[in-house]
Amino acid sequence: MSVQNPVFIPGPTNMPESVRKACDMPTIDHRSPTFARLFKPAVAGVKRVLKMAEGEVIILPSTGTGGWEAAVSNTLSPGDTVLAARFGMFSHRWIDLCQRHGLNVEIIETPWGEGAPLAAIEAALKADTSGKIKAVLATHNETATGVRSDIGGIRRAMDAAGHGAMLFVDGVSSIGSMPFDFAGWGVDIAVAGSQKGFMLPAGLAILGVSPKAIAAMETAKLPRTFFDFKDMLSSYARGGYPYTPAVGLIAGLAHSIELLEDEGLEAVYARHHRLAEGVRRAVAAWGMTPFAASPALYSDTVTAVKVPEGCNGTDLVQLAATKYGMAFGVGLGEVAGKVFRIGHLGMLTDAMVLSGLAVAEMCMADLGWPVKLGSGVAAAQEHYRGTAPAMALAAE
Ligand SMILES: *Cc1c(COP(=O)(O)O)cnc(C)c1O
Repeated sequence: MSVQNPVFIPGPTNMPESVRKACDMPTIDHRSPTFARLFKPAVAGVKRVLKMAEGEVIILPSTGTGGWEAAVSNTLSPGDTVLAARFGMFSHRWIDLCQRHGLNVEIIETPWGEGAPLAAIEAALKADTSGKIKAVLATHNETATGVRSDIGGIRRAMDAAGHGAMLFVDGVSSIGSMPFDFAGWGVDIAVAGSQKGFMLPAGLAILGVSPKAIAAMETAKLPRTFFDFKDMLSSYARGGYPYTPAVGLIAGLAHSIELLEDEGLEAVYARHHRLAEGVRRAVAAWGMTPFAASPALYSDTVTAVKVPEGCNGTDLVQLAATKYGMAFGVGLGEVAGKVFRIGHLGMLTDAMVLSGLAVAEMCMADLGWPVKLGSGVAAAQEHYRGTAPAMALAAE
């Protein structure tokens, strides 16, 4: 693997040089006002990125997986029921985590490649007349299959069922790259990680928590210590942490949000959509299709490319790494070998994406796949040429 090439795994993502520098700082006392000055803008920035109107932001030294655990352990009790659809490796892992915590997961098995099944969710909630379902879990962007689910639609299904469950959303591979509307969708907990849309090294779980989820802490009996929101919030009130925070990453987070907001969140989302569309045109030119079942489900942060019969996606990923020093994502779980994944989120430009597409094509040719060199690159070039926003050179 070359450390010079960009990565095309769907996280960790490429890091802007200035974000790396922002993380690189001398030791400071995390109980001093210096830490509070650096921490508060990060918290306020996350609130804006999530579009929160109320509630709290919790930033834990952890990863997205720890964010899942923090969400359920702070709000639920052993034996509580949660409702979740399973349609990929990440929705599966959150379900598995809940089961290992002694929760009863009502699982809606959904074919991989599909998104959250709104009608089935509404039906399950309507059938729950005793209100035993305490939370609905939703994977906004299923990173294994490249599928975006309709979180606003889940909220409407919950409202249509008149059900009072909380809504917990895994936004690890969408937040900061695709539109997210915590307040508008009535989200109770949103989970993000530092190493995807926020373009940082791994090491932070970033959560938005609604007043309703905070109130649920009072009765929740699952054990928690390191992830206890109550400890966090009481320390926050004094500008600090109950233990040693990841100071450099928090400084980096404040800076990465500055970069996102300088570009403009809407412009960031438009850039991701445009880059993703170029990748999809390349995939079509290769005679392949995204694994996602329909265009409405296409993720703007990762494309799982269905490989032709008789080809193995993992071979491409291995060859790209060993021969060309470039990283793509392998197929996970039941799509292992059937797809390879192109991550297109975080710090990324047209030129970077074209380099990834070009290397993917070289691998396909090397492996004898029925693909003409340059075909996907040309399709993406046409898209990028035709849609490039004017560069604001004067402002730089
Ligand atoms: C990456 C990812 C996770 C897991 O996050 P870690 O930081 O690796 O623990 C969870 N959910 C989704 C959708 C992801 O893409």
